[in-house]
Amino acid sequence: MSSAALPSRPTPRPSVMAIEAYVPGKAHAGGGGRVYKLSANENPLGASPKALEAFRAAGGHLELYPDGSAVALRAAIGATYGLDPSRIVCGTGSDELIAVLAHVYAGPGDEVLYSQHGFLLYRVAALAAGATPIVAPEKGYVTDVDAILAAVTERTRIVFLANPNNPTGTYIPFDEVKRLQRGLPGNVLLVLDAAYAEYVRRNDYESGIELVATCPNVVMLRTFSKIYGLAALRVGWMYAPAEVVEAVNRIRGVFNVNAPALAAAAAAIADTAHVEASVAHNAKWLQWLDDELTALGLTVLPSVGNFLLVLFPQTPGHTAAEADAFLSARGLILRRMDGYGIPQALRLTVGTEEANRLVVAALAEFLGKSHGA
Ligand SMILES: *Cc1c(COP(=O)(O)O)cnc(C)c1O
Repeated sequence: MSSAALPSRPTPRPSVMAIEAYVPGKAHAGGGGRVYKLSANENPLGASPKALEAFRAAGGHLELYPDGSAVALRAAIGATYGLDPSRIVCGTGSDELIAVLAHVYAGPGDEVLYSQHGFLLYRVAALAAGATPIVAPEKGYVTDVDAILAAVTERTRIVFLANPNNPTGTYIPFDEVKRLQRGLPGNVLLVLDAAYAEYVRRNDYESGIELVATCPNVVMLRTFSKIYGLAALRVGWMYAPAEVVEAVNRIRGVFNVNAPALAAAAAAIADTAHVEASVAHNAKWLQWLDDELTALGLTVLPSVGNFLLVLFPQTPGHTAAEADAFLSARGLILRRMDGYGIPQALRLTVGTEEANRLVVAALAEFLGKSHGA
């Protein structure tokens, strides 16, 4: 065989090389002082003590393979939400399920659609599957159902919708989600990523369970990384029609969720008191941060999640990049939004009371305003 036309070394597929590596929220500030990580939407109250106990107990048996079908965890999730466990699949974080769904339903020549400031991993998943990512514009940082429907073509295979959306924190009411589903061709999979559902306190919001139960082309994703405070363990789950479950189970990691993670997640979902405390903490401090930052003259998008997108002025001395440097020097780590095409913004996770007060005080100083917080 002639080697003249062949590359001299292994060559990644071009779609893979089109992926900008995902940059997680920073965890360090440089300098030696105390660091407040408010860049990754983690739970400031930590995990449930019951989850930690279950994690430690499972840690005594690291020689054993985990249950690859996550029977006990799926039963616990099913009991909590009134769902048939056979329609649930657990993943190594919902990240794994996003990637697997893209591989199952989209490939070269297909399109994967999401909204302008949608979660960055949708793009990564589409490209990794060899599919073409397509972006629908938003209206004022809110998902625009009409724009998504207008972007659907005969090549569209998947629509990813984070609701509430990260990084904007905004959401669309369930009526709008249903309108989106009704407008999609039956062969297009609608993936409702409800990573922040537990935080939402709005009467017109639903995570999508009802749609999954009634439509063959709708899937809902949830995670243990946010309200349950188990981001380190990487556990997510999907509620889906039987055919989707069957297909995803063929290519997900066989032992994708490790044993201590399975045990901790099952204990966490049963600890409703810890969930309620986390929701209450968030509701209080989300509102407080919104009020305080708005009073400083910053523009804060209305958020229903556990984080806020804060828009900074473009005036030199007051930009998001300069604010980020100022805050980082004080150990306050927020998330830069350049990768999302919103360089004028920083995303702030609701933290402990101490961290929240420090952020507001530091921003007041940065903006040159005296502040009594
Ligand atoms: C945090 C987050 C997830 C969860 O990711 P895990 O892999 O479960 O940690 C999924 N979708 C969105 C939009 C998120 O912000």
